[in-house]
Amino acid sequence: MPSPGNDPKRSDEVSALIGAHLQSGGSSFDFLIRRTPDPIFDVIQDYEHDPKPDLSTRPDAAPGTAKVNMSTGVNLGEHGEPALYNMQSVRKAMCIYAQRFESAFQAAQDGNYSWLPDFLGYLPTSGHAGFCAVSESLLFGKNSTLRDAGRICTIQTVGGTGALAVGAAFLRSRAAFGDVQGPLFTGPIYTSDYGWPNHRLTFETLGFEVEEYPYYDTRNHSVRFDDLKSHLLTAPAGSVFVLQLSGHNSSSFDFTRAQWIELAEIFSHRPGEVIPFFDAAYAGLKDGYAQDSWPLRHFADRGIDFLVAHSFSKSLESYGFRLGTLSLVRGTGSQPLTGAPAYLSEAQRVATIAIDQLKTVLADGASRALVSNCPRMGAELVEIIFTTPALRDLFDKEVAAKAERCKQMRIAFTDYMAKLGFPEFDYVRHGSVMFALLDDITPDDGPRLRELGLHMFRNRLVIPRLNDVTLPFVCKVIAQVLREKRAASGGPDLDSLPQ
Ligand code: PMP
Repeated sequence: MPSPGNDPKRSDEVSALIGAHLQSGGSSFDFLIRRTPDPIFDVIQDYEHDPKPDLSTRPDAAPGTAKVNMSTGVNLGEHGEPALYNMQSVRKAMCIYAQRFESAFQAAQDGNYSWLPDFLGYLPTSGHAGFCAVSESLLFGKNSTLRDAGRICTIQTVGGTGALAVGAAFLRSRAAFGDVQGPLFTGPIYTSDYGWPNHRLTFETLGFEVEEYPYYDTRNHSVRFDDLKSHLLTAPAGSVFVLQLSGHNSSSFDFTRAQWIELAEIFSHRPGEVIPFFDAAYAGLKDGYAQDSWPLRHFADRGIDFLVAHSFSKSLESYGFRLGTLSLVRGTGSQPLTGAPAYLSEAQRVATIAIDQLKTVLADGASRALVSNCPRMGAELVEIIFTTPALRDLFDKEVAAKAERCKQMRIAFTDYMAKLGFPEFDYVRHGSVMFALLDDITPDDGPRLRELGLHMFRNRLVIPRLNDVTLPFVCKVIAQVLREKRAASGGPDLDSLPQ
């Protein structure tokens, strides 16, 4: 059936209606329809409107008499304490920063205002150089040879989402590939199924066609690797593949090393046709940065061009600082273009763009257009952490502790569900980082789950939101809903099982 947009008759009618409305003094904005920007926000609203007390105020409450917020993926601590409370490295860096600011401010009282730009001035369009260097060293190692070989450049972005947006905008911008040949990667952009809903929103908003590639095997709790490979082999030239590096949001199942190696093999045979765009939103939180970022180094070793969107939101618990970077990695160093047609400009024929120039093209071509300049303060904090050895140590320990806590809570969840008679959730212990998709819980179960006090995005459990208080409650609610469903469908009487 044609939509009003492409049915000429309907669209004439709609235009006439809008015209009449405007003529009679209406506003163009009267026609805006609220579209949920991201369904996860509905979960937060439902939680807030639920009159039941939060479980933290009634720790022994039974299902149906308290509520639990299982909405966004955040790394709460053991007692449900929020973000910054469990990152001392960030808190201490903030104190150092505040002291520096205070001293500079005092100096200003004596007429020395030269401090002003260091705290309040614009950053360059490529962002904070020290912060970008930290991001590169986390993803590619401290002494990465890529930089010396002129193969990597990194700019600051507004969080990981900003990195995805700027990277995508860059890939199809004229700034990237010039007027003569036109952009190389105009899409579609492929993102995984059972993935992060905002990928689609971000790329579609930028005008890309977005397709899903098969990823999560719900039956075997693994990656549908063969199906994905056929997609990759047959995707049209110009396709971009978004690959989550670790802690896949939402399935929690990642590529194995052997699979990354196979993927790199395929990409290496389709240069200029398909490009990987890594989403490193949970880097470091699985097995530490060095392990988690291994695929990036492998792809670089294989001579593949790619982009990486790196978010610091989770690793630093600094969601509101909006810290991210976009790295562009060249498969090779700069090379002269052989057999270049005469109509190319001299600059294009030489085609030996230096990495610093490339960085400028990236920054001025896409980032400047979308956000102009990135925020300064969070970037300064990261630089403080990484140039202060004691804080750097603390950061490493804290990231490791968060990773460990997720692993422990996965085991605790699996064990508790088994105790309640649901050993089939054993797979949850094998997932990585913060999410788990619960088998047999469907969107239709939403109302009953909410009635019993569990406000969850579809069937997505946020592992670090579990703690000694929430875990038993959440498990009991899930068990109760599954029992009720099975009883209603005439399944085995699960009430006889241990509660
Ligand atoms: N990618 C994925 C898969 C994510 O889960 C998130 C955050 N939820 C992001 C990117 C974006 O991170 P940020 O909040 O830094 O924009």
